[in-house]
Amino acid sequence: MNNDLMTITVKENRQDTADCHTLIFTRPDGFIFTPGECADLSFPDSEMNFKTFSFSSSPTEVDLMVTYRDGWTDYKLRLAKLDRGDEMKMRIYGNTFNYHPEHHAVFIAGGIGITPFRSMLKFIWDNMRSEKKDKTNSGNNNQIDLIYLNNTEEFVFKEDLDEIKQIISNLNIHYIVTQKEGRLTREKLEKLVKFRSDSINYISGPPGMVDATVEILESMKIENIRIKTDSFDGYVEN
Ligand SMILES: Cc1cc2nc3c(=O)[nH]c(=O)nc-3n(C[C@H](O)[C@H](O)[C@H](O)COP(=O)(O)OP(=O)(O)OC[C@H]3O[C@@H](n4cnc5c(N)ncnc54)[C@H](O)[C@@H]3O)c2cc1C
Repeated sequence: MNNDLMTITVKENRQDTADCHTLIFTRPDGFIFTPGECADLSFPDSEMNFKTFSFSSSPTEVDLMVTYRDGWTDYKLRLAKLDRGDEMKMRIYGNTFNYHPEHHAVFIAGGIGITPFRSMLKFIWDNMRSEKKDKTNSGNNNQIDLIYLNNTEEFVFKEDLDEIKQIISNLNIHYIVTQKEGRLTREKLEKLVKFRSDSINYISGPPGMVDATVEILESMKIENIRIKTDSFDGYVEN
């Protein structure tokens, strides 16, 4: 079913911050995905015009969510107008950004790049809660460091992340307001994170931010197999 073009119905087009919205869709029956996975979305009358979005919801949640930064293309102007009951077409893009719980994880998000990490962290949180209830333990208690860079203090999903932090004790969150504190540098990163030889580094955000962060990690002699990226092509600036 996942290779087909699916029709998904909007439940809500929720404003999260001054310039970000979350589209909440009814999840099609039997639709399965993994945290970090993306989908291509288009409008029913213009099926050629697909754009890619990471799911911001976790597979453990009832609804399907994507979160987008408002824009000015015809596509974004149409997204902004979507309302309850409207439909979109969805085609699965796949997952090249999956989380490996058996390793220390360094998540580095640039602005809207938080979307796959929100999905992963909510997934881990929900699994931990059910393990607590069932008194089971998957043994995946590895440290997670989230570095979340944003231009302003308005961090999308901050409330969710702070709530998740209450349960995932091995999660550290470092919020960085780049307008005040400047961009990420090697020095800052090394101060914030205690890297291990087995750490896996995940970077998600606009291409400029992703490329600059990869350069920092490479300058630290981190092997390429330990660097995973989700580059949000389409955002031209950092
Ligand atoms: C694997 C993958 C995952 C992705 N996941 C996401 C996701 O979860 N969320 C998401 O939002 N996008 C995601 N994207 C990017 C998405 O596919 C679009 O490319 C992106 O949202 C840009 O949309 P747009 O082309 O309609 O342009 P717009 O959003 O309209 O922007 C076009 C350009 O104009 C700039 N711009 C927009 N508004 C203004 C303004 N008012 N003034 C000045 N400049 C402006 C933008 O910064 C951008 O550079 C992902 C892309 C990939 C490849």
